[in-house]
Amino acid sequence: MITGKTKTVGILGYPVGHSLSPLMHNVAFDALKLDYIYVPLPVEPDHLGQAVAGLKAMGFVGANVTIPHKVTIMPYLDELDRSAEMAGAVNTIVIKNGRCIGYNTDSQGFIQSLIAKNITIKGKNAVIMGAGGAARAVVCGLIEHGINQIMIGTRSNPKAQEFVKLFPAGTNIQGCDWQEGMFTEAITECNLLINCTPIGMSPDHGVILPINWQNVKNSAVICDLIYNPPLTQFLAHAQNGGHIVINGAGMLVEQGALAFELWTGETAPRNIMYEVLNKVMVR
Ligand code: NAP
Repeated sequence: MITGKTKTVGILGYPVGHSLSPLMHNVAFDALKLDYIYVPLPVEPDHLGQAVAGLKAMGFVGANVTIPHKVTIMPYLDELDRSAEMAGAVNTIVIKNGRCIGYNTDSQGFIQSLIAKNITIKGKNAVIMGAGGAARAVVCGLIEHGINQIMIGTRSNPKAQEFVKLFPAGTNIQGCDWQEGMFTEAITECNLLINCTPIGMSPDHGVILPINWQNVKNSAVICDLIYNPPLTQFLAHAQNGGHIVINGAGMLVEQGALAFELWTGETAPRNIMYEVLNKVMVR
């Protein structure tokens, strides 16, 4: 029951109607009998600064941040945690003593989703397709956990080159167009192949990534950040070829669980969060 004492969090995005986070978090609050509510907050880009001031004014205890505000929200916050500075984006805000502190739980959320499946990162070679915000969070996490080498493939070489410059000198990361020979070489050496583009996401199920599967080692683990559908064509192809596959549901739950823990100080009920998402995802 919502009362005058109920604590409020929400998700700032535009649009937010598709987001599964309100469902996932409200079920989690109920499961732990915490007096919190999570509300969708559609905010047009021009109103973002007012929205952040509004969160403080209305006594919100925190929020999630999604497309298109993850980067543009940063100047409106009072403080950035190292996770947000590293990822160059904010997906979680904690509001304490009238101050908005920005965090990024996507990076750790992705890593936790691998650890949950006993996947080793240290010393491995990763190939990443895409060079957007999610790819940056993934790369930060992989670097922090001792990845050996990273190749970024995109549909345009300059984008890959720009992306690579975001990381400290000395990082073993290269980028190219995924049609280039050096991408094919990296694919043959990779232990982790990760789709960080929206290719294959609902409703465009039929669009496929340009991978020559003959070049991918049988032992390579194949990840897709997409969780809707749970099995993209990319993952289905990999699974048929005998690869271990991991979809984006683990990352979605883990990034949400970490945000939940920042707001409430309680351990998030991850299994319940997974269950509720599984029920509503498109098959
Ligand atoms: P983003 O910042 O817009 O970046 C998207 C990347 O994909 C860019 O490199 C873009 O290339 C590339 N791309 C987009 N459409 C393409 C196409 N048709 N062909 C080739 N490349 C294309 O998006 P993001 O925030 O990184 O999100 C990427 C994906 O991760 C989305 O599917 C999102 O739903 C998913 N995600 C999942 C989670 C989770 O919790 N599971 C969290 C975050 C994101 P250009 O720069 O050339 O356009």
